[in-house]
Amino acid sequence: MVRLWQLARAQREWVSNAVTHEEIPPDVDELYGLEPVIEPGEAAPGSAAPESVQSRAVPCPYCGETFDTTIDLSSGSTSYIEDCQVCCQPIEFLLEVAEDGTLANLETRRGD
Ligand SMILES: [Zn+2]
Repeated sequence: MVRLWQLARAQREWVSNAVTHEEIPPDVDELYGLEPVIEPGEAAPGSAAPESVQSRAVPCPYCGETFDTTIDLSSGSTSYIEDCQVCCQPIEFLLEVAEDGTLANLETRRGD
């Protein structure tokens, strides 16, 4: 199976060439390291527009369970009531949005 062997060898050389010669921008790792990537591939690195609707895991102040909730940053800082998905108690969400449209703070507290 000389041809197969040659093919494998050529492939290996191609791979090693690609690794050696392909220019990878040195700042890629930094870009990915700077902001926590919650949904990889959603936002291109360096993109100025943050996702306005995000999914966050928050702890319930009543039962202590953590559940995922969707927050909307497009309308700015706000507070609202949402029922716990586990124990159905009304949780008050305090949502703070930074000037650049990113999430500054998200707190949950008992609404009663
Ligand atoms: Zn709960």
